[in-house]
Amino acid sequence: MRRRSTPLSARRIDLHTHSSASDGTTPPARLVVEARQAGLDVVALTDHDTTAGHAAAAAALPAGTALVPGAEISCRAGDVSLHLLAYLFDPQEPEFAAARARLRESRRGRAERMVASLTAAGTGVTWEQVQELAAGTVGRPHVAQALVARGLVPTVADAFTPDWIGTGGRHWAGKLELDVVEAVRLVRQAGGVSVFAHPGASARGRTVGDEVVAEMAEAGLDGLEIDHVDHEPDAVRHLSGLAAGLGLLRTGGSDFHGANKSVRLGAHGTSEAAYAQLRERASGAPVVTA
Ligand code: AMP
Ligand code: ZN
Ligand code: FE
Ligand code: FE
Repeated sequence: MRRRSTPLSARRIDLHTHSSASDGTTPPARLVVEARQAGLDVVALTDHDTTAGHAAAAAALPAGTALVPGAEISCRAGDVSLHLLAYLFDPQEPEFAAARARLRESRRGRAERMVASLTAAGTGVTWEQVQELAAGTVGRPHVAQALVARGLVPTVADAFTPDWIGTGGRHWAGKLELDVVEAVRLVRQAGGVSVFAHPGASARGRTVGDEVVAEMAEAGLDGLEIDHVDHEPDAVRHLSGLAAGLGLLRTGGSDFHGANKSVRLGAHGTSEAAYAQLRERASGAPVVTA
C-alpha cells in the first residue's frame, strides 16, 4: 500500500509583509527571523513598488523558512486606488522594472509635496526628517511618523484623517498608479503571478465593484487576498463567492508593517493548496529556501 505523504497543510504561510525597504519598520534581514519566531514556514516580502529588500531577506533566511519574493504595486481602476500583490516575477524584466521605478520616483515627489504643505502649515515637519525615516520606498507612514515625532498626532494611524494625510485630506498629495489591468499584464509578462490585495478594505477608502475584479481576472489575475485584517466577515463572505465564481485563488496575509501597524506576522495566512497553485503558475523567480 502506498503511504500517504505527510499533510503539508500544517505549514504556515503569510503572503503579505512590509519591511523598512518600504513603509514597514523592520529591516528585511530581521523580518525573516521574526517570521520564523512567529512560527511561519513561508513568508512573502511584498514591499511597496520595490524589490530592494529581497537580497537582505534571502541572505538572512533561517533554516526551514521559505521566502517568496514579491512586491505590492500601486494601482488604480478609474479613480479608485488599489494594490496588486505580485509574486515570483523576474525582477530584471525591463518593462515591469521600469514601471516600479516610475512609481517610486512619483512617491518621492508626492511625499515632498505633502511635507511642503505640512511645513507651510507650521508643523515643523521637514523633508530631511522624512528622508531619514524612509530607508527605501517613501510612503505616507513615514510622513505620519514625522507627525508623531512632532507630537501632532498620537499614532501613525491617526495621521490618516482628512485633517492630515488621509486620502483627499488637507496635506495629502496623490501619486502615480498603474492601471490595474495593465499591471496584471506586466506581472505576467515578467513571469509572475498576481493577487488583488485587500479588495474589500472599505475603511481605508473606496473599493472597486465586482466588474473590475472580473476584468482583472480576464487579464490573468490569479487570486484575491481574502484573509486580511481589514476585511469584515461580510466582505470575506462576498469575496469568497466572487473568487469561486471567477476561478480565483483565495490567499491571505498579515500585511505586517512592524511598529507602523498593530497587526502581527502570521495574523492571516494562505492555504498550502493556493500557495502550490501560485508557485506552479510562476516562472520568473524561484522561492528562496535556506
Ligand atoms: P501610500 O502608499 O504612501 O499612499 O500610503 C499607504 C500606506 O499607508 C498603506 O500601505 C498602509 O501601510 C498605510 N496606511 C493606510 N491607511 C492607514 C491607517 N489608517 N493606519 C495606518 N496605516 C495606514
Ligand atoms: Zn504600506
Ligand atoms: Fe496594501
Ligand atoms: Fe501591504
